[in-house]
Amino acid sequence: QDEHVEFVQNEYVEFDQGKTHPFYGMAQALSADLKNSLLELHYQPQINTVDNSLYGVEVLARWTSDEFGSVTPDRFVALAEEFGLIAELDLWVLRQSCLQLASWRDRGIHIPMIAVNFSPLSFNYPSLKNEIQALLDQTGLLASSLVIEVTESKKIKTSDLFIDAINDLHSIGVIISLDDFGTGYSNLKRLLKFPVSQLKLDRAFVSDLPNKLSKELSAVVLSISKKIGAVAIAEGVETQQQLSCLKSMGYEVVQGYIFSPPLSKSELEHWFYAVE
Ligand code: C2E
Ligand code: CA
Ligand code: CA
Ligand code: CA
Repeated sequence: QDEHVEFVQNEYVEFDQGKTHPFYGMAQALSADLKNSLLELHYQPQINTVDNSLYGVEVLARWTSDEFGSVTPDRFVALAEEFGLIAELDLWVLRQSCLQLASWRDRGIHIPMIAVNFSPLSFNYPSLKNEIQALLDQTGLLASSLVIEVTESKKIKTSDLFIDAINDLHSIGVIISLDDFGTGYSNLKRLLKFPVSQLKLDRAFVSDLPNKLSKELSAVVLSISKKIGAVAIAEGVETQQQLSCLKSMGYEVVQGYIFSPPLSKSELEHWFYAVE
């Protein structure tokens, strides 16, 4: 356990020592708003194009600060990573998402899966598996309705701790998804070290479709996903042309503005009743 904690702490600037950091004030505001549950969740539908059914929703955090206004996720996630707040943020999003999914279930709104984003750093959180298991027990949700997306990046450590944490979550039935897949850092050997059930084709490839190179890369991602028994999800799909191209290649699950942007809770509920 001690080893675990030390590993976590080495990853970031100690909050207390960072007082001279130019973004210290913003990090403090984020920390306070997180403690008071003042961030919001938005939900983007993922569609199964074979029968146009709802496959799941991806949860995207939103932060509007009194002091700093609306801050984009890319910025506050980087901030949270730098100031050691990221596990707190990701765990908060995970908790809220499970509570929301259970509440929808209780109201007859059936969302098959909910996907949350996890920074690679958040897997260092001690007793992550127990925390998630307790949450599943408390809400009565199936582990298989919870997806954890981890961005394929240089930050992914092939360290034993990271792999152990992923395997732990997989062992209790949580779905592991590799986000932004194809953006360059992956190699197959590393990929096969952990139990990935979803590959998300990065928006960068989708936006260039039907460009020949993008099409070839998208086909490679699809064939890798088949090989490892994972579901391929194309994200950032905006146009009919991109959609038909992906469908003709064999992509079955799609996410993007063409179906819906990320929606607030009440917007998602309206959307659900409209398509049902
Ligand atoms: P991501 O996980 O790759 O999420 C997809 C991003 O693409 C989202 O941006 C979404 O709003 C946007 N998007 C979806 N469909 C389309 C489309 O058709 N066209 C275009 N142009 N964009 C589309 P967003 O919400 O700004 O989030 C940015 C990133 O911030 C996310 O990228 C994710 O890596 C990170 N993030 C968001 N929430 C969390 C969180 O709770 N924890 C962590 N660790 N990261 C988060
Ligand atoms: Ca994601
Ligand atoms: Ca992504
Ligand atoms: Ca991304």
